[in-house]
Amino acid sequence: MSVTDQEEVKEMTMDVPMESTLDATCREVAEEIADVVIVGAGMVGTALACLLGEAGVDVALVDARDALLDPDTVGLGHPGMRVSALTPVSRKLLEGLGAWEWMAARRVSPYRFMQVWDAEGTGEVSFSAEQAGVARLGHIVENDVTQAALERSLEGLASVRVLLGARVTELVETADGDRCVHLADGRRLVAPLVVGADGARSPLRELAGIDVDVHDTGHMAVVTTVKVERSHGDVARQVFLPTGPLAFLPLRLDGERHHCSIVWSTSPEEAERLQELSAEALGEALAAAIGHRLGEVTVVDRTVAFPLVQRHAQRYVLPGLALVGDAAHSIHPLAGQGVNLGLMDAAVLAEELLLARSRGTALGDQRWLSRYARRRRGDNSGMLALMNGFRLLFGAQHPALTLARNLGLGAVDRLVPLKRLIMQQAIGHRGRLPVSCR
Ligand SMILES: Cc1cc2nc3c(=O)[nH]c(=O)nc-3n(C[C@H](O)[C@H](O)[C@H](O)COP(=O)(O)OP(=O)(O)OC[C@H]3O[C@@H](n4cnc5c(N)ncnc54)[C@H](O)[C@@H]3O)c2cc1C
Repeated sequence: MSVTDQEEVKEMTMDVPMESTLDATCREVAEEIADVVIVGAGMVGTALACLLGEAGVDVALVDARDALLDPDTVGLGHPGMRVSALTPVSRKLLEGLGAWEWMAARRVSPYRFMQVWDAEGTGEVSFSAEQAGVARLGHIVENDVTQAALERSLEGLASVRVLLGARVTELVETADGDRCVHLADGRRLVAPLVVGADGARSPLRELAGIDVDVHDTGHMAVVTTVKVERSHGDVARQVFLPTGPLAFLPLRLDGERHHCSIVWSTSPEEAERLQELSAEALGEALAAAIGHRLGEVTVVDRTVAFPLVQRHAQRYVLPGLALVGDAAHSIHPLAGQGVNLGLMDAAVLAEELLLARSRGTALGDQRWLSRYARRRRGDNSGMLALMNGFRLLFGAQHPALTLARNLGLGAVDRLVPLKRLIMQQAIGHRGRLPVSCR
């Protein structure tokens, strides 16, 4: 954990009254009592609210945002800059929530092939949906499209209340052992279970005093959208440059295959340099970086850079509290797994909570919450470790490692059963899937 992060966490946890203070007055002044309070209505929190709401659980979904997205404008015209590669398993979940149909009608971009290669050598591996035994390896989807679709799915759920402009500032325990969430505007929410789905810097995680392992990858992700001269052919491309991986993610706009979303992970200095380039010079740099495989590259959007910090909460659960999505783990985007892992957290937590309810157990009971933590921690840790391994192997410039990765990529490319195994992982078929994702 970096010194800054350690200090930040310490600072936030110092005046946390959760373990010691019993806020006996909370119930009396509370405006809202629910079965579950979900803090954070991003893709993961909203998906969890849908899953619980469908089963009639009384949910208060709160977010600091002032408004939901406008479904009349999302996914039309110019593509949004933040996109995610959604696995077939995530798609299954979204289908079950009635979100996918709207997303597909609005804008999703299937990819059927993946090419990964090393800019420094000759190693290359390619994957196809056919080899993996699926119709598509996944879809590149604008985050706003997924978010708006989930928000539409919420509309029909009578047991879910959405509170916006609701910034959580404090978390205390009531005399009854419930959790009480304080909002900045003075409102209070009481429930036996509070779920933190409030993103990578999760205020709730800090308020709960949960420590986090922080690994600053030292990378920034430079993100933009480009138009390419040659058709991308539904191929997701990733090249490992000496400075980090660069992804060209295929987008379909009105049926044409000439746009890509760019995620260029690189050093902060290089990210700054790239951002300062003219659009023309950046296009040329991008075209050269992928060896001109797609011909000329034209940058059609502004460029934004995100710091890439991996975080893993040391605990996913406490009595009456659970973390999901980026609040529990944030991961390097090189394998495009972040939101997929988060959606899987939501599906597994909902499954365990509904099972607990069917057995007459309180929703905040730690034994059931621990089942969720056990089911998810291994999968998330494995993916975080894999991403680190990839980054280190491909970030290294030692000739022996260059040789190893070239040999390795070549060998993987020739071994069909191994490729199939890797593909099964990448498309989300790992371990015991929750029923909602099968
Ligand atoms: C450059 C980049 C590329 C990526 N590419 C991919 C990809 O290809 N595939 C993939 O799967 N993932 C990808 N990811 C990761 C993915 O974007 C995240 O995993 C995902 O957005 C996390 O969703 P979430 O709902 O957990 O959190 P968030 O989207 O961060 O939502 C958190 C919500 O909590 C709310 N909130 C925060 N604090 C408070 C508070 N105090 N009170 C109330 N509300 C609060 C916020 O307003 C927000 O709405 C990428 C990430 C980056 C940076």
